[in-house]
Amino acid sequence: MKNKIFHPYTTFSELKTELPNIVRGEGIYLFDDQGNRFVDIVSSWWACALGHGHPKVVKAIQEQAAVLQHSITGSMTHPNVLALAERLANLMPTPERHSVFASDGCSAVEAALKIAVQYWYNIGRPEKTWLIGMDQGYHGDSLGALSVGFVDGFHEPYRKTVNHPAKLPFPVPTASDPDGFEPSRKVIEQHAEKLAAVIVEPLCLGSAGMKIYSAGYLKKLADCCAVNEVLLIIDEVAMGFGRTGKRFAFNHAGIDPDMVCVGKALTAGYMPLSACIVKDRIYNTFSDEGEKDCTFYHGNTYAGHPIGCAAALAALDIYEAEDTVARAAEMAEKMKQWMLPMAAMNCVKELRFLGMIGIVELKAEMKPKVPRIKQALKEQGYLFRPLGTTFYLMPPLVISDEELHAAVDALHQTVRSSTAPE
Ligand code: PLP
Repeated sequence: MKNKIFHPYTTFSELKTELPNIVRGEGIYLFDDQGNRFVDIVSSWWACALGHGHPKVVKAIQEQAAVLQHSITGSMTHPNVLALAERLANLMPTPERHSVFASDGCSAVEAALKIAVQYWYNIGRPEKTWLIGMDQGYHGDSLGALSVGFVDGFHEPYRKTVNHPAKLPFPVPTASDPDGFEPSRKVIEQHAEKLAAVIVEPLCLGSAGMKIYSAGYLKKLADCCAVNEVLLIIDEVAMGFGRTGKRFAFNHAGIDPDMVCVGKALTAGYMPLSACIVKDRIYNTFSDEGEKDCTFYHGNTYAGHPIGCAAALAALDIYEAEDTVARAAEMAEKMKQWMLPMAAMNCVKELRFLGMIGIVELKAEMKPKVPRIKQALKEQGYLFRPLGTTFYLMPPLVISDEELHAAVDALHQTVRSSTAPE
């Protein structure tokens, strides 16, 4: 296919194949210009939790576009952003919070990292400047995000451009340390004097291949950060709004993070909008009324975009009205039962489950077969995006039982036939 797009996360070899040219979305389906219908099995990069074309979100966007398409939030407000900031604060365990708005997940993460550093500067601890994440974590593709999240398979060329003073190791449970937290504790305690913040993807390292760790780890991390005076940023950009079977993945651990980043499903993928929801204990230090000017001189043109906020408010209404989170938890259990028989295939290394994420990691020797499996699934109408040898289902949370069961069957049969003698 010849076009002028510098495609994200797309190899040149893929460009030699026919790329679907998607012209329409409806429910869990995407339609291309050839009339083919595909199940959006990864929710369009994990964003479209409500599928496509939900009339209530579409209406909210249309109505807002007709009234006020944009107005900045620097020294001004508008009703939608006021309502959304209030709403997000009230979704947190403690609602004393202010939100920084941005357009994509990565920008919400950048804001969180800068707020962490400036917070310590504001309160007279300027030596606390280090920002660290988990080994193979992912928080977006800006250089700031790469300095706390670095997936070797994607980011090698930038290794020497970004600075990684330390990393939390991915938790490996042992008999004496069932959450695998102790190695992380050592890192935090060793560097506490310099650490401004730790940022993690809660419970699941998505881009690194859907690697899952325990809620117990997250609880211990929160406690350890508090004791060592290190801010904890939870990046809910991929997991937030029901994906894991609770509203936020951090809810599984019963913690109250200093900052929470949200994006993607915040608007159910209808508009680019993200937020970093900050505790007032931190926010209150950003004043210009003390000895020094501690104003947050940071912002994006589209921060709190009125149409984006309208989409988010509509999506949040729907999540609530349709009880999306509870439904996701219920569906997750069914998906797991349907997927479990896949473990019997010789080529499967491991199955993993977290809410409405069903993961099949194939053995390393299956790597050459991955493009063929992906193509065969596409021909059956499923747009999978494997990560290495890991195939996963992360469908819109509104997928029906029948549609989900059919998708699991398609994956099962396609993987099975890929290993059959030719
Ligand atoms: N954080 C996490 C956990 C993500 O998974 C992603 C994207 O996949 C991001 C941040 C970046 O979001 P965006 O692509 O909207 O910048």
